[in-house]
Amino acid sequence: MGYTNSPLVSYTKISPNKTSPRNHKIDTITIHCVVGQCSVETLGEIFAKESRQASSNYGIGFDGRIGMYVEEKDRSWCSSNAANDHRAITIEVASDTTHPYAVNDKAYAALLDLVTDICKRNGIKKLVWSTDKNQRVNHLNGCNMTVHRDYANKSCPGDYLYNRHGEIAAEVNRRLNAEVAPETPKVLYRVQTGAFSVKSNADALAAKLKAKGFDTYMVKVGSLYKVQVGAFSVKANADAMMKKLKDAGFEAFITTESGTPVTIEAPKTETKVIKVGSKVKIKQNAPVYGKTTKFQSWVYPLTWIVHSMNGDRVVVNKDTTGKYAIMSPVKLSDLTIVE
Ligand SMILES: [Zn+2]
Repeated sequence: MGYTNSPLVSYTKISPNKTSPRNHKIDTITIHCVVGQCSVETLGEIFAKESRQASSNYGIGFDGRIGMYVEEKDRSWCSSNAANDHRAITIEVASDTTHPYAVNDKAYAALLDLVTDICKRNGIKKLVWSTDKNQRVNHLNGCNMTVHRDYANKSCPGDYLYNRHGEIAAEVNRRLNAEVAPETPKVLYRVQTGAFSVKSNADALAAKLKAKGFDTYMVKVGSLYKVQVGAFSVKANADAMMKKLKDAGFEAFITTESGTPVTIEAPKTETKVIKVGSKVKIKQNAPVYGKTTKFQSWVYPLTWIVHSMNGDRVVVNKDTTGKYAIMSPVKLSDLTIVE
């Protein structure tokens, strides 16, 4: 596999103390403390000596600068365990010389940046830390952070860094997730019931859908107004909504195309005005104009033609079948227009 090195490195001095190439895919991070607030150059001088028989892939100086001493393709001699170092990227961090071997804020910030970068380039999707040595050294439950004290009688990485391993994992994972999210735009399955070039037609369909209880919205795509019901990230849910719509008598299909949201307007109900010649019905049980007397029951279901009008006094005469003529006055508000 093609290994790369961190672009965050500002100083490189390759150490002779290494095994080339490494024999295992990089899947582990091992953080060490230097036991000295040194620079990346000083670390480079230390690892340059063959007599030291030691190295690390990266080092972080007290000032937050990052050095490289063993390329990622090679195994560093760092953690007193060949198997660990063949699979791990080892990082030495400048620290105090005494317990708890604290590292300063700049170095700690650089460590988070470097570990995030290592994970990204090597396909490590998530850092998993455990306070249980057995979990760490046996890589149980996805554990992929180890420490020097697991393999040698040392306090490395010091309690300051050891106690922050959980926090390091959490922060690196937060950054890894934040960077992954925009690369996978969410596909939404939209259930579409109609597309119209005339908006009022789309409004009319939307009104019918709303009347049947469907949560409806409209988008404009090109010159078409599209009426949609629901946008689902799971296609099965879109399928279910499509079936529901079809069962209710609507056309429906699924699209992943989005558009510009458009406001649905209530369709204009043409306010027809009652006038002479209009076809009207007399409201059930409405009385004769100016009286309490009701019409005979057979009058109400029929449609009547307006004969004449005077204010709110409307006279209807013939019914639309031509069978009946009643020439009766009815109050305007007691009539409903048919056409
Ligand atoms: Zn160490």
